[in-house]
Amino acid sequence: MSVSEVVLIKQHLIDPEVCIRCNTCEETCPVDAITHDDRNYVVNAEVCNACGACLSPCPTGSIDHWRVVARDKVFSLAEQFGWDELPTIEQAGATTADDSLATLVGGDDAPSQLNAAVSPASTQAPHSAATPQTNLHGVKNPIIATVAGNLRLSAEGASGDVRHIVLDFGSLPFPVLEGQSIGIIAPGTDANGRAHHPRMYSVASPRTGEREGYNNLSLTVKRVTESDAGEPIPGVCSNYVCDLHKGDTVQVTGPFGTSFLMPNHAGSNLLMVCTGTGSAPMRAMTEQRRRLRAAGQPVPGRLTLFFGARSPGELPYFGPLTKLPPDFIDTRLAFSRVPNQPREYVQDRMRQRAADVAELLRGDTFVYLCGLKGMEIGVLEALRDACASAGMDWPSVHQRLVDEGRFHVETY
Ligand code: NAP
Repeated sequence: MSVSEVVLIKQHLIDPEVCIRCNTCEETCPVDAITHDDRNYVVNAEVCNACGACLSPCPTGSIDHWRVVARDKVFSLAEQFGWDELPTIEQAGATTADDSLATLVGGDDAPSQLNAAVSPASTQAPHSAATPQTNLHGVKNPIIATVAGNLRLSAEGASGDVRHIVLDFGSLPFPVLEGQSIGIIAPGTDANGRAHHPRMYSVASPRTGEREGYNNLSLTVKRVTESDAGEPIPGVCSNYVCDLHKGDTVQVTGPFGTSFLMPNHAGSNLLMVCTGTGSAPMRAMTEQRRRLRAAGQPVPGRLTLFFGARSPGELPYFGPLTKLPPDFIDTRLAFSRVPNQPREYVQDRMRQRAADVAELLRGDTFVYLCGLKGMEIGVLEALRDACASAGMDWPSVHQRLVDEGRFHVETY
């Protein structure tokens, strides 16, 4: 047997079909191996050390792709910038044929070691979560939904235009669980003449449908009119979605998400913290438990919600939320821009309820954070302080929550 040495590496790649271009991976990468152009996020194989720091913060799982390739044939940045989808394993072209001696840099078990990397959020779903369906439809085979409703949620005169969009799938199967997301492909092309990539939205309805028994779901979408820096920039997909009419058809991908899911076992409490349209998954989970209660079934555990918005008129689902009985859900709202009132954020409300928060963290509780990226630090500090005032050590509590699939974060 002739023996030629082929050095193989597991090249880290990002799935352009699923990536929502939220920049989390690029911000997280400790060695600056991730970069982007106006289309794709890509990984520089010459720089990436496969440390795995970027994996769990990724909200979609698009970051967690690997191809075994010969070290001298890695996919270049230019190639990755040009992709609309990942290359297949066959296209990656590496083999471990009998006549070659393959040396796998990083070892055979590299991906599993990476998945076990210490992370600030759980990559595992709660142990009693239902099994999610994922990636049933991609950009090549989107499912077509029909708009069944488009209702403005924000009050007239509010600065933000927030919409409750209902999509119906007719007789086509598209099962989703609370906490999962879907992609929407806006029609038309971008400045380079290429089809728009899908934008992700969290599902705001429970597994039984926005209208119970119907094959539909809802989304909470805010019209984007300016960039983070305040420049006027119309969001391609949010404007498309906010302008949809009943009867219009929409291209949908997904469902996505395998860990930001709710527990179903008796005694499981939910501690939900959200800002703005980050309330979508919290509404889905709350509605799932509200329906159990309405059907006379036992509600598995306590619900606690900290919810921040600029004003009551900007807070999605304000009316229905305030009608939920306090013995069903303990709700604390924080408003930041109400005239003549001090600015309040969710973390301020959490501090006011530190003893209750600490008691929840001691018990059988699952924590969910969703909304603005900026809220993360403040919320983590509030959790740390709540633990400290109850004589608990936040780093070890946090680690236990992460390890047990109890700490879920989706912020953009
Ligand atoms: P928003 O109206 O801009 O803000 C909501 C509230 O959060 C405001 O009161 C705001 O206060 C406050 N806030 C700002 N910075 C904060 C901080 N550092 N800590 C705590 N609170 C802070 O929110 P939005 O426009 O709806 O944005 C929601 C976010 O959720 C977006 O980033 C979106 O991408 C994300 N998201 C959406 C979905 C979905 O399905 N639609 C799903 C997941 C995540 P100020 O008065 O200071 O602005």
